[in-house]
Amino acid sequence: ALARKSHTTVLEVDLDAMIHNLNYFRAQLSPRTKLVAMVKAGSYGAGDFEVAQMLQHEGVDYLAVAFADEGVLLRERGIAMPIVVLNADADSFDLMIANRLEPEIYGFRSLDDFAAAVSHAGEARYPIHLKLDTGMHRLGFMEEEIGRLCEVLPTRPEVKVASVFSHLNCADMPEEDAYTRAQIARFDRMSGAVAASLPYPVLRHTANSAAIERFPEAQYDMCRLGLGLYGFGWRHNDALRPVSTLRTRIVQIRRLAAGETVGYGRAGRLTRPSVVATIPVGYADGLDRRLGCGRWSVRVGGEAAPVVGRICMDSCMIDITDVHGVAEGDEVLIFSPAAGNDPEAMARVLGTIPYEVMTSVSGRVKRIYL
Ligand code: PLP
Repeated sequence: ALARKSHTTVLEVDLDAMIHNLNYFRAQLSPRTKLVAMVKAGSYGAGDFEVAQMLQHEGVDYLAVAFADEGVLLRERGIAMPIVVLNADADSFDLMIANRLEPEIYGFRSLDDFAAAVSHAGEARYPIHLKLDTGMHRLGFMEEEIGRLCEVLPTRPEVKVASVFSHLNCADMPEEDAYTRAQIARFDRMSGAVAASLPYPVLRHTANSAAIERFPEAQYDMCRLGLGLYGFGWRHNDALRPVSTLRTRIVQIRRLAAGETVGYGRAGRLTRPSVVATIPVGYADGLDRRLGCGRWSVRVGGEAAPVVGRICMDSCMIDITDVHGVAEGDEVLIFSPAAGNDPEAMARVLGTIPYEVMTSVSGRVKRIYL
């Protein structure tokens, strides 16, 4: 904890921006449609407890995490609302039951194992969420298993199906819309059959952020909001506000002659007299090493300053020759909501997606909340 507090580099998370994004998506939902907020992987890097607390306060219906430990952390900090664990493994079932965490059940084996754990805990009618595979082929019951599933469920008084859901793996890809529509039709059949076989109402849900915007017919009873909450759309969307800023301060500034080289492997070669600043953020903080040697520019006083040479584990150097009036201790934005400096832009440079950029900010970077 001491090391975290002493680290100059912080991830600043704007909870008001997150509420703005939440409301942007809520405005697209029918008033009856419930909402799951995805807070797995430390809320896509934006922090765990504070984000969950805000979402609880804003009346979101469910939170979703990937692993039991993530849910336990939230329970320990007092988050009382329903939490779904998506990648629940059998080893964590007891822990989940002790913490009122609700598992995604994606096959007969996980159904049997979970029912046994519930029975062992002396409980019954424990809420579960049935995952259906409509074409992603990651986890879930296949269409040909639905008949058997409907037969097995009434023999399992240990559990109560709170929801039936699936994931649309191409909702953000217009070129795959025919596939997505077929998935939605399959979901309709499969989830309809499960719902009809049960003597109580169940929630059906399949839409992620992109599907909320692109497939309003797939809202069903609930939607699962992830990326959009953190400020990015299925394509660039100015109506959303990126929520996080990775900021640090200049540790040292030096003037170097043309021909000098900077950093490991002398990879930063100066072609003119230059002013170079060192900042305490490196690849161990989540600044991808592939962004070195000019492939990324941070912002200093609103101006772009390219990374010079290779990114080190705990620091990197930036070229501030063209930025005037900079002093040691001045603030540097590694990424921010600013156009061209945001995680979307960084993801483009890296050939990846903003999800990866955001979740890569490491645990030693302290999160602070606005
Ligand atoms: N639902 C499931 C099962 C997921 O795995 C995810 C994200 O990975 C989401 C919903 C949220 O997707 P998005 O962040 O694109 O809104």
